[in-house]
Amino acid sequence: MECLFCRIIKGDIPSKKVYEDERVFAFEDINPQAPVHILIIPKKHISTTLEIKNEDHELIGCMLQVGNKIAKEKEIAERGFRLVMNCNRESGQTVFHIHLHLLGGRIMHWPPG
Ligand code: 5GP
Ligand code: ZN
Repeated sequence: MECLFCRIIKGDIPSKKVYEDERVFAFEDINPQAPVHILIIPKKHISTTLEIKNEDHELIGCMLQVGNKIAKEKEIAERGFRLVMNCNRESGQTVFHIHLHLLGGRIMHWPPG
């Protein structure tokens, strides 16, 4: 069966979209861990950060810039926010299509749990 986030990109599974361009899609996390919790994903299926190739460098940069853009729109850019990618089991990765978490709107603790 096709990956969950590929199905969200196609619209087969509904999501609250916040941004889309030719390469990147962003939507609200279904189980938010902060007042702002958005997932920024590439339209290209890449299962973990370990699978990122040289040809993907620009794509990954675009994802970061989309994170910045949404942070500004949500008015958390000046206060501060966090961009996180989990990789594999011990990090807590549960969906194997890479996603950049944009978290903000509250104080973020360090180190993360
Ligand atoms: P991970 O734990 O892999 O880093 O993050 C996966 C994220 O995807 C979690 O924060 C989880 O809440 C979110 N998520 C899982 N399934 C869905 C879904 O069907 N829709 C949305 N919008 N988010 C999802
Ligand atoms: Zn996928």
